Amino acid sequence: MLVDTFNRVHDYLRISITDACNFRCVYCMPEENITFLKQQYLMSNEEIFSLAKIFVDLGVTKIRLTGGEPLVRKDFGSIVSKLALLPIKIGITTNGLLLDNYLEDIKKADIVSINISLDSLRKEKFKTITQRDHFDQVMKNILLCIENNLYVKLNVVTLKGVNDSEIIDFVHLTKNLPIHVRFIEYMPFSGNNWDKDKVFSNQIALQTIENQFSLFKLVDEKNDTDKKFGIFGHAGTISFISTLTDTFCSTCNRLRITSDGKLKNCLFGKEEFDLITPLRNGENIVPIIVNAIVKKHEKLGGQFVDYTQVVASTLENRSMIKIGG
Ligand code: SAM
Ligand code: SF4
Repeated sequence: MLVDTFNRVHDYLRISITDACNFRCVYCMPEENITFLKQQYLMSNEEIFSLAKIFVDLGVTKIRLTGGEPLVRKDFGSIVSKLALLPIKIGITTNGLLLDNYLEDIKKADIVSINISLDSLRKEKFKTITQRDHFDQVMKNILLCIENNLYVKLNVVTLKGVNDSEIIDFVHLTKNLPIHVRFIEYMPFSGNNWDKDKVFSNQIALQTIENQFSLFKLVDEKNDTDKKFGIFGHAGTISFISTLTDTFCSTCNRLRITSDGKLKNCLFGKEEFDLITPLRNGENIVPIIVNAIVKKHEKLGGQFVDYTQVVASTLENRSMIKIGG
């Protein structure tokens, strides 16, 4: 088992399979000088499987594929079908654009739930946020997933003054659709123009919703990052991921591997542990993994305590697109 010095058991691994993306979300991708990794630096399908297998042997029970945009990888189908051989639950986080191409692979891999990012229900605003004109196709794919009995979780990053006015519209969406909408606070990363004044706190989001809807609390699992609610009379549900205003570090069970094969023990941590070079050299990487767990900080990668004090440009970290959500 992968237990850190704060007694947290790490059984959930998020693997970024590419740093490339077909969107340019303003809160994620740095505006300038973004270059994607050349093929030889990306983990191959076989390397992803080998790493996954090592982590499963160390107690990981759930693996999420992310990116960049995981579905831009041409071998996505093959990656997911190989991982399905392992005794794990597989998750995917995607912007949804290419989902129709991979639905069969996803179903064959026994994936039952999928996280799709959608920050606006308005075509024009979607375009402003993602800098791409793909709203209709993403919506179509969301509905396609629901029709195919996949449980869809919508990730909505709320940005003050940009899409906070749509919170109620997202709740309305759950009236007839059996989807789960998750409101996520805007987090600071390298090059994403973050400012504390752009954070729309989930406490205010909840109050805004409670003013119009009758909510009831749902049970949260021990390692859940979100606080879940049902809405009387609605087919779907909502939740709040309050990374900044109500941190959940004490129950963190997550590890991340970047698309260039570096292990990160925390989303906000600056420390990275190279796994791919030793793996390619045929070395035993277990001691490196164990060391990475031991070095995990208690909170927020040891980089800040209170988000209101954060100066984003002083944080030492990758951009979100290079970490993989
Ligand atoms: N491309 C895929 C997608 O958009 O779902 C997967 C990668 S993306 C980096 C993973 C998740 O991180 C998405 O839900 C995205 O909205 C979220 N995200 C990116 N930057 C963020 C930020 N600064 N604060 C909060 N969430 C962020
Ligand atoms: Fe791409 Fe996802 Fe980042 Fe948007 S949030 S730029 S879709 S990786």
